[in-house]
Amino acid sequence: MSASALFGTYARSGLEFDHGEGVWLVASDGRRFLDCGSGIAVNALGHSHPHLVEALKAQAEKLWHTSNLHSPPGGNRLGSRLAEATFADRVFFTNSGAEAMEAAIKTARRYQYDKGHPDRYHIVTFEGAFHGRTIATIAAGGQAKYMEGFGPKAPGFDQVPAGDLEALKEIVGPQTAAIAIEPIQGEGGIREIPTEFLRQLRKLCDDEGILLIFDEIQTGVGRTGKLFAHEWSGVMPDIMAVAKGIGGGFPMGACLATEEASSGMVPGTHGTTFGGNPLAMAVGNAVLDVILADEFLDTVKSKGLNFKQKLAGLVDGHPDVLEEVRGSGLMLGLKCVVPAGDFVAMAREQGLLAIPAGDNVVRIMPPLTISDEEIAEAVKRLEAAATSLEQTLKLEGAAE
Ligand SMILES: *Cc1c(COP(=O)(O)O)cnc(C)c1O
Repeated sequence: MSASALFGTYARSGLEFDHGEGVWLVASDGRRFLDCGSGIAVNALGHSHPHLVEALKAQAEKLWHTSNLHSPPGGNRLGSRLAEATFADRVFFTNSGAEAMEAAIKTARRYQYDKGHPDRYHIVTFEGAFHGRTIATIAAGGQAKYMEGFGPKAPGFDQVPAGDLEALKEIVGPQTAAIAIEPIQGEGGIREIPTEFLRQLRKLCDDEGILLIFDEIQTGVGRTGKLFAHEWSGVMPDIMAVAKGIGGGFPMGACLATEEASSGMVPGTHGTTFGGNPLAMAVGNAVLDVILADEFLDTVKSKGLNFKQKLAGLVDGHPDVLEEVRGSGLMLGLKCVVPAGDFVAMAREQGLLAIPAGDNVVRIMPPLTISDEEIAEAVKRLEAAATSLEQTLKLEGAAE
């Protein structure tokens, strides 16, 4: 028997954390780690943020669950605040990102069905995308490694290379319900989609009666210095999936849509037992209290610039290890020369947590509350990791 009763679905680090304080995680053996992953872009306000702890405790003492047969305490308020702050008019709460994407896909298909186009159910997505791990969202992501062994690919998902407008125009047809895209591909390696391409997508959608879905599960809730990353481009979607940072570590997600795009989602079309749970709503409202406060997003922007500049210096100083810095706000990536997994492991030895991604990139996504001193400390630790890897390379070179 293996040491753990848990499914073997994760390649785990072997670390177990006991508690967290802001951007720091403390392991069971007392070691302290600077958390530059925020889970995976989840702990937007760091660990044990007092306002979030207070909100969760207060709600825990009042009411945990009532089902969606009744109005969820805090749900109308959180929905209105999200609608107020975005392009959206309507919100559906979920428990996770994949469920938010499922809701987005269903909303788009149902819209076309309601308009008299039941055959318009295809969703076009982009190579390098990640939209979740359910049967439909692995088909949306289109990556063979996630679909292998799970039966036939769910029908109705077409994929083209990111940025390839010609390929897109070729695949779009009378079967197309929606186009779905992450404004910055997260799992794909912090790959930014150019504003011009997003504009072209919007135009194509408008011309063809297609809905535009943004997957802002990783990019959203302040991560790039705007509430949502698409605001940088000025291009608005019809539907948007949100999760990760919106709960600050409490599991929750949301599908946002315009009145028009959500018009098909009438009673009976969709549902969830736990989505919109009072505990999640309390924490979600508390997260927005902080993120929507005056100047909070401005500080994310300036800290992001500071961090990116310092990382650019790091790349310049270690060309045998690192190749490029990319990303926006506090959603940053280091494209590596050495295997990204080696860099992450070495950073961990230096007491810093980062996350590998596709395209041989290491993601740096600290809590949005990280201070400039902590950014300097993070760069120092990343520098130490780069130097160690350089020495290893030299030793290997000498041995050859
Ligand atoms: C994490 C992520 C998802 C899936 O979210 P889960 O909560 O793990 O289901 C979907 N899309 C993007 C862009 C993500 O980063």
